[in-house]
Amino acid sequence: MDDCLFCKIVAGKIPCDLVGESESFLAFNDIDPQAPTHILVIPKEHVRSLADSESSEMLGGLMSFTRDIASEHGLVEGGYRTVINTNGDGGQMVFHIHVHVLGGRQMKWPPG
Ligand code: AMP
Ligand code: ZN
Repeated sequence: MDDCLFCKIVAGKIPCDLVGESESFLAFNDIDPQAPTHILVIPKEHVRSLADSESSEMLGGLMSFTRDIASEHGLVEGGYRTVINTNGDGGQMVFHIHVHVLGGRQMKWPPG
């Protein structure tokens, strides 16, 4: 999708700090990290949000890839948080579905 920031990252038109890639997914460091580790995991295919996702296969693959990325970054023993912000009240700013992977510090609950 032409005016989507993360589609531009997928297409290589905007640089990113890549930390993982598969045939269908990308993982890169968040530009404004909220924890010592803050990775975004996205499908290469444009899907606007979790609410707009229609493929269980994509969602399953996204979560499996996210699990592997967290493991590869040494987050399993200490633990980590995964977040998918959806639409306005969810705090979604970039409308290309993405999983935040946050780790390396104690997370708080409830979230802000
Ligand atoms: P959300 O609010 O869930 O839509 O999250 C969007 C995230 O994208 C924020 O955490 C931003 O810091 C991050 N972000 C925005 N632009 C970039 C970029 N060019 N590279 C990496 N992360 C980005
Ligand atoms: Zn997109």
